[in-house]
Amino acid sequence: MKGKAIIFSAPSGAGKTTIVKHLLKVNAQLAFSISATSRPCRFNETPDKDYYFLSNEAFDQRIQDGDFIEWEEVYSGTKYGTLKSEIERIWASGKHVIFDVDVSGGLNLKRYFGDRALSIFVVPPSVQALRERLIGRGTENDESLMKRVAKAESEIMRAREFEVLITNDVLEQALRDAEHIVNAFLNDRA
Ligand code: ADP
Ligand code: 5GP
Repeated sequence: MKGKAIIFSAPSGAGKTTIVKHLLKVNAQLAFSISATSRPCRFNETPDKDYYFLSNEAFDQRIQDGDFIEWEEVYSGTKYGTLKSEIERIWASGKHVIFDVDVSGGLNLKRYFGDRALSIFVVPPSVQALRERLIGRGTENDESLMKRVAKAESEIMRAREFEVLITNDVLEQALRDAEHIVNAFLNDRA
């Protein structure tokens, strides 16, 4: 089997992690691409499962060593990136890879993988809803909330650069839509 790639991008708070986690639960063919990040681990995260947590110095060394397919300073002072070794690991295990990355990263991955990848953008019902979801998630302080909402407005304008859009208003509907779209892409042998 030739491994494929499913790329989920959206502004922070739109619900992409919720959708990606659901797809991983219902589709055993998929494996999550664990990104590297230089931000600290959150209370609800597990190292080497949610992210590979690296110091700033270690992250910069991996950049210099050419270990990333793509990386971004998503928020000032905080880098995130996709390691080449991660995709090799997943494809070698016979699974398809699924990504949860920011908008620039998603478009870069689509360019890198070409027809092997499907790029999906998760659209929030409004910026206000996104803000409320981020507050409800309980992971942000005032500063990080402001940074994420400010970035969201410009990210939403790039939605049309993606191949598929999924609106995440009623969560159950978004989950069903995501399942159908991903299954159709994975089952297409062309
Ligand atoms: P992202 O990964 O895009 O930053 P998350 O998946 O972490 O977003 O979702 C942000 C918050 O919004 C989470 O607390 C999640 O439970 C909640 N959420 C996700 N989808 C919906 C929805 N359709 N309606 C209401 N809340 C949602
Ligand atoms: P968070 O700090 O909320 O986990 O993630 C912040 C943002 O970084 C999210 O939009 C997330 O999708 C993005 N992100 C996570 N991993 C990567 C990655 O490997 N590359 C890029 N470009 N963005 C990533």
